[in-house]
Amino acid sequence: MGIMVLNERELLRYDRQIRIAGFGVEGQIKLKRSKVLVAGLGGLGAPAAIYLAAAGIGKLLVIDKERVELSNLNRQIIHWTEDVNKTKVKSALEKLCKINPEIEIEGIVDEINELNVYELVKKVDVVVDGMDNFKTRFLLNEACVKLGKPFIHAAVYGLEGRLMTIFPGKGPCLRCLIPIEPEEVKPFPVLGPTPAIMASMQVMEVIKVITGLGEPLVGKLLVFDGTSMDFMKVTIERLPNCSVCSGH
Ligand SMILES: [Zn+2]
Repeated sequence: MGIMVLNERELLRYDRQIRIAGFGVEGQIKLKRSKVLVAGLGGLGAPAAIYLAAAGIGKLLVIDKERVELSNLNRQIIHWTEDVNKTKVKSALEKLCKINPEIEIEGIVDEINELNVYELVKKVDVVVDGMDNFKTRFLLNEACVKLGKPFIHAAVYGLEGRLMTIFPGKGPCLRCLIPIEPEEVKPFPVLGPTPAIMASMQVMEVIKVITGLGEPLVGKLLVFDGTSMDFMKVTIERLPNCSVCSGH
């Protein structure tokens, strides 16, 4: 790739983040060069995609197989009332290209499964967990660990959220955190601000991982409780015999 520079419009668009100490034009160029997968365009993926696009991630790859439903709209703010019955991908692409026409966005209407997960993860530098089930999260976790790609995990339930950055080789993976697949409750209760809070923290982690700003949340699980507004960090160790990450 040739030397990448920012045009006048980009310098203006990203002016307020370029001013952050340790970020600068260099940090913005790193974002422009990067590719991020948003896996799922639901409660987490929808606000995450908005902030990733606005921040100037050079290429966004979004994937979701579902269509917009009325019961999505309390939290999946990229989708509007007029979008009900559209695919989530189409609905999201329509908004994302208006939020930031300077970036490249690709949408795939499909599920993530054993057959495509490696191809998807291979295409990007970082993966954002926007899933609503652990089966697919574990597929993404494994592909990210094997391919050495950071995986920004989040999960929500009601007013509670959890966040951990999986940095292959540097800390525990999702299997170390949750060795046995939890039972899936569907549909589960969730208040809109919960995934909004967690998704904006996921994007914070993406930007930190790409630019080298600050300390990513590796080896620590952040637990947010909206009923008391408590943020708690729990240290998570790598499992020596983890079925996914031992040896990586
Ligand atoms: Zn592990």
